Amino acid sequence: MAQKMQERFDVAVVGGGPVGFASAIALAQGGTQVAMVTGRSAGSAPSPDLGRTAALMRGSLDFLYGLGLEDKIVEASWPLAAIRMIDAKRGLIRAPTVTFRALELGVADFGRNISNARLVDILRQAAAETPGLTILDAEVSTMETMSDRAVLLGNGNAIEAHWVIAADGRHSAVRQAAGIATRTWTYPQTAITFHVRHARDHEDVSTEYHTNEGPFTLVPLGDRLSSVVWSVAPQRARELAALDDGDFALRAERECQSLLGRFTVAGKRGAYPLGGLIAEKFATGRTLLAGEAAHAFPPIGAQGLNLGFRDAAEIGRIDLRGDVAPREAERYDRRRRVDAATRTAAVDLLNRSLLTSFLPADMLRSAGLIALAGISPLRKLAMRTGMGSSPRLPARRSLAG
Ligand SMILES: Cc1cc2nc3c(=O)[nH]c(=O)nc-3n(C[C@H](O)[C@H](O)[C@H](O)COP(=O)(O)OP(=O)(O)OC[C@H]3O[C@@H](n4cnc5c(N)ncnc54)[C@H](O)[C@@H]3O)c2cc1C
Repeated sequence: MAQKMQERFDVAVVGGGPVGFASAIALAQGGTQVAMVTGRSAGSAPSPDLGRTAALMRGSLDFLYGLGLEDKIVEASWPLAAIRMIDAKRGLIRAPTVTFRALELGVADFGRNISNARLVDILRQAAAETPGLTILDAEVSTMETMSDRAVLLGNGNAIEAHWVIAADGRHSAVRQAAGIATRTWTYPQTAITFHVRHARDHEDVSTEYHTNEGPFTLVPLGDRLSSVVWSVAPQRARELAALDDGDFALRAERECQSLLGRFTVAGKRGAYPLGGLIAEKFATGRTLLAGEAAHAFPPIGAQGLNLGFRDAAEIGRIDLRGDVAPREAERYDRRRRVDAATRTAAVDLLNRSLLTSFLPADMLRSAGLIALAGISPLRKLAMRTGMGSSPRLPARRSLAG
C-alpha cells in the first residue's frame, strides 16, 4: 500500500471500479467501517475515457438511487425508452426485428446509459463524502488470511480487515490469493467502443444489430449522441483501429445502414478482446468476490455491470461489522453464483449463436426472436427479466437470521 495503515477495518474493498465503490458505499452507509483500496497509485489521474459506457437497467438504478445518487446519475446519463434487435446475419434465415418498449410495462424507460468514467467519478466522489469510508489509492499485491481476519499486502505496507471484498476485476489478485479457481474462455471477437454524434434523432431507442461477427450496438447517450459497441473479428478490429476518425466513422455508419444519418466520432476509441470468466466460488474464508472478479462475459444485452451491481446490493445487505461467523459468506456464495451462472449461460448461448453458421442454431435463434416479437406475455417476461429485479437496500440480515 502507498499509505501505512494502523487501523483494523471491518471490511476492505479492493478495486476502484463501479462495483467496488458501490459495495463500499452501501456497506459504510450501514455503519460498517470500510477501507476502499482503489488500485490507482497515489496522486495519479483516473483511467482515460475510451468510449465505454454501461446501460444500467432499472434494478441497478434503484440500487444507486438508494445510495443517494439519483440526481448525479440522472444528470450524467440518458434514458432508454426502447430496445430494438435487428437480425443482420448473412444466412438463409432472417428473424424479424423485435422492439421492446418500456411503455408496454407502464414505465418510461428500461434504464439509462452512462459513461463508465463518469460513473466511477460520481461513485468516487460519493465515497469520499461517506462517513466511515477511507479511500486508499494503492494496489494490493497479495493477501494473508487468518481465521478472524485478512491482511492485505502491497508496496511493503499492510492493512487488516475482518472481511475482504474482491472487486479488483477479471485478473483479481485477491481472488488468486484466496485460492479461488476460475473457468475462463475466449471468443474470436474484439469489442470496439466509441461515441458518435449523428444527424438524426435516436428517439431514445437502443439498437442492437446481430451480425455474423457479433453485435453492433448503438445506445443513446445524449442529444444526437450515442455510444457504440462494435464486436468484430480481431483482425478486422486491427484494421479499423488503423483508420483515422473520418474513415472509421464512415465504416461504422455503413454497418448500420446510416440508421441515424451521418456519424462523427466524439472522443477516444477503445478495444477490448472478449472472453468469459466465472469463479468456482463467490466466497471463501474471509473473502467475497464481486463484479468481474467473479464473472465476466461479452457485452450483449447489457448484462455485466448490472449483474455486478446485484452483487454489490447483496453485499450491502450483509452485516459485516466486526469479527463474525462465515455463515453469511456461504449464503452470498450460493445466491450470487446461481444468478451469475444463469446470465453467463444465456449470454454465451446468444453470442455463440451469432458466430456459428450452423443452420439449426440460426433457426433456434430466429424462432426465439419470432416468439418475442409476437407473444405479448413472453415479451413482457423478457423485458422484466432484462430490467433486473430491484436490489434496493432493505434492512440488513443479522447473523442469527
Ligand atoms: C465493451 C463493453 C461494453 C459493456 N457494456 C455494458 C453495459 O452496457 N451494461 C452492463 O451492465 N455491462 C456492460 N459491460 C460490462 C461492464 O463494463 C463490467 O461488468 C464492469 O465494468 C465491471 O466492473 P468492476 O467494478 O467489476 O470491474 P472493473 O471496472 O474492471 O474495476 C476493477 C478495478 O479494480 C482495480 N484493481 C485491479 N487490480 C487491483 C489490485 N491489485 N489492487 C487494487 N485494485 C485493483 C482496477 O484499477 C479497477 O479500478 C461492458 C463491457 C465491455 C467490455
